[in-house]
Amino acid sequence: MRALGRHISSYPDFGIAGVLPCALEVRYGFQKPRRIACPCRGRSHDKRIPMPDMIVPCVDLDLLCKYDTAGPRYTSYPTAPQFTSSFTAADFREEIRAANAVKEAPPLSLYFHLPFCESVCFFCGCNVTFTSDRKRPRPYTDLLIREMDSVAPMVAPHRRVAQLHWGGGTPTFFPPAELKRLHDATRERFSFAADAEVGLEVDPRETTSEHLRTLQELGFNRLSMGIQDFDPAVQKAVNRIQTEEITRRVIEEARERGFQSVSVDLIYGLPLQTERSFAATLERIVALNPDRVAVFNLAYLPEVMRHQKAIKADTLPPPRTKLALLRLAIERFTAAGYRYIGMDHFAKPDDELCRAQDDGALYRNFQGYTTHAGCDLHAFGASAISQVRRVYAQNCKNVREYEAMIQSQGLASHRGIRLSDDDVLRREIIMRLMCDFALDPDAIGRRFGIEFSSYFAEALEMLIPMETDGLIRRDNEKIVVTPVGRLLIRNICMPFDAWLKKKPGQKFSRTV
Ligand code: SF4
Repeated sequence: MRALGRHISSYPDFGIAGVLPCALEVRYGFQKPRRIACPCRGRSHDKRIPMPDMIVPCVDLDLLCKYDTAGPRYTSYPTAPQFTSSFTAADFREEIRAANAVKEAPPLSLYFHLPFCESVCFFCGCNVTFTSDRKRPRPYTDLLIREMDSVAPMVAPHRRVAQLHWGGGTPTFFPPAELKRLHDATRERFSFAADAEVGLEVDPRETTSEHLRTLQELGFNRLSMGIQDFDPAVQKAVNRIQTEEITRRVIEEARERGFQSVSVDLIYGLPLQTERSFAATLERIVALNPDRVAVFNLAYLPEVMRHQKAIKADTLPPPRTKLALLRLAIERFTAAGYRYIGMDHFAKPDDELCRAQDDGALYRNFQGYTTHAGCDLHAFGASAISQVRRVYAQNCKNVREYEAMIQSQGLASHRGIRLSDDDVLRREIIMRLMCDFALDPDAIGRRFGIEFSSYFAEALEMLIPMETDGLIRRDNEKIVVTPVGRLLIRNICMPFDAWLKKKPGQKFSRTV
């Protein structure tokens, strides 16, 4: 179908294999959709039949249940639990200097963590400071500027910022004037590429027209927002009342003001969610027509995130319902023309994430999927994680401790890790699997000077049952993740993660 070189959108009926007949509906260009038989021809899905890359096949709930385990989301490798306090701010300073001493240093990505929120959403997994004190943004902005003052002089002047992102917390908890001050200070200290991607997370409940006007004037061109679920009972159960009207107002105004991309986040697995209620939310989201959608699995870890204890475990949907919610989301968004990028993310086919994936240039960092591969990431603010060459450095999570460190030494990194050769190799493998859904062992072997089959003998052994179950297939010695394997990409990466064995028993969210 791809060989025709024309736009194709496609979707399956998500019949449970063996119970309902499967079918695919395909559309070429602007022709009417045409219904074709799924390669399984209504029988239990034959895992050996290769599916066209862009089609997500019938979702076998039993198969998903089989692979439902706890595992990392791989926004980094090694993951944050492996960072240690033996890595200090002095180590980070040394790495920044070394990174800027080389001629061919890559562009920069900047992240700012703005941690304040007025009220707690019970599902929240972010590093947040809950406060109603509206005076807190000002001194916090001073700290961010001071942290930039420590980093910027070490950065070679020719290096351009290709990407800027504000996350939180709620960046729009900050008044527009404070956001402008932070942005101006950043532009004074770093040089931006003309086509830099400049985005932030907003909470529609905290976003005024004045915010949007200011952000537009500052050159912000991307905006993402949490919605989670429109059902009033679910919203009440998670303590986040956000009407559709409020959300629509912000999306429409952002579009009118010329923001290029609007992304929304949903969560499946929230208390009181049912297939019926979630299907209604999905319809309303499709009607809002966002450019990208992320549908996250609730990371329910009340022993780690204490505010999650407000969610009673018996109000959570059972595992099979949860998987049915995921299935619904995949069905609805692919039917609406979005492509399943991977790891909970959907994007319109003309979105640059899809183009980057087609070109093998998709990358994954702490903000999720991105098109800016290879940048050094400098992150500012409490809990923010920087990635410079072979180093990850994380700032203190607590705002008071962050303040004390910035005041005393200008940097606030208190944990981190310097990657070994083995870590760099495994990071590249996990990145390729997560972003390309394919791995070329020979190319990896040549690049890193290893005999892949012997170096990863154990991991390859662990992949055999996944091949039998149709999550991966071999294609001219390449390992190719099948459409159904994309739903379980974390499981496919885990055999290559050496740290899971070195430090067993860590707390991670469920993989499906
Ligand atoms: S608004 Fe966002 S960051 Fe703040 S508590 Fe809710 S989910 Fe967490």
